[in-house]
Amino acid sequence: MSKIILQPSSNKDAQQHYEDTVKNDVLLTSIQSYISSNDFRVLNDVYPSGACKVWGVTPSGNNSTKWSRIENGDVTLFSKKGFIYASAVTTYKLHSPNLAKQLWGLDDKGQTWEYIYFLDELKNHKIPYKDFNRVVGYADNFVIQGFGVLKREQSSSVFRRFNLESEVFIEEISNKTYEDILSKLELLEETESEIFSTRRLEQGYLKRSLFGNKVIGICGACKKEYPVSYLVTAHIKKRAYCKKHERKDLNIVMPMCKMGCDEIYEKGYLSVLDGLFVNMGKTPISPDLKRYINQISGTKCHYYNENTKDYFDWHYEYHK
Ligand SMILES: [Zn+2]
Repeated sequence: MSKIILQPSSNKDAQQHYEDTVKNDVLLTSIQSYISSNDFRVLNDVYPSGACKVWGVTPSGNNSTKWSRIENGDVTLFSKKGFIYASAVTTYKLHSPNLAKQLWGLDDKGQTWEYIYFLDELKNHKIPYKDFNRVVGYADNFVIQGFGVLKREQSSSVFRRFNLESEVFIEEISNKTYEDILSKLELLEETESEIFSTRRLEQGYLKRSLFGNKVIGICGACKKEYPVSYLVTAHIKKRAYCKKHERKDLNIVMPMCKMGCDEIYEKGYLSVLDGLFVNMGKTPISPDLKRYINQISGTKCHYYNENTKDYFDWHYEYHK
């Protein structure tokens, strides 16, 4: 799981570096002589355009320990003056005082930003510190100071809240971790198969109540005839929102075909108002889907009655 790197950058050096080597790209050929041929080859794979974004930190404090925790896919948050103003994804890292001197020179203590990491997928943000602090669990008035790497748990809240995960640059996963993941999935699948077989019994009970022994049934929406294997007992009110007594009520379901009606009702493209099917005008929509819905909208719903009215009303309100 990827981590969040904090990179305050309000001082003059940091602002200049951001401008020179993050906002503006650096040509790989211009750094070739400062890095190994292997590093150069990898960077050419990562940056097929031949231009990269790059950042570095000095050895001061325990920066090198923090830097050693950085992995591909980790996301750096650049911050200054009360806001996180940009994020970028880590693509590669290397240690090179020579490259750092070439890119950024020396600071006033004679140090250079030799713990280097490469970046891509630069995005602009305007996230107030307060919003960030609340997600991470810091006090409202906390100010990000100094380079740092968040723990995985804190990072995952930040990723979720601000949608920062990269789909391109992904952390390397060791064989060991992969094995752990597989056994975790196996456990989940066991539970899932139990849920599946129990759901099957529930569906079976509801199906019998709708179709009895019939093998052919009629879709409640498009009114076409199908083998019951092509019909589902669709919950008029979303099952997850049903109270216990509503789940037991056999009026909660109606037959809908797998040929499309179940899906468009479930997604709320189609609903029922005062006993008639209505097109809810949802998007995105394609001409073919529109045609499908228009064939049904305006027709009568034979499952609409005193006992089901509240369930249909719930669906209409939920999706309108
Ligand atoms: Zn249908």
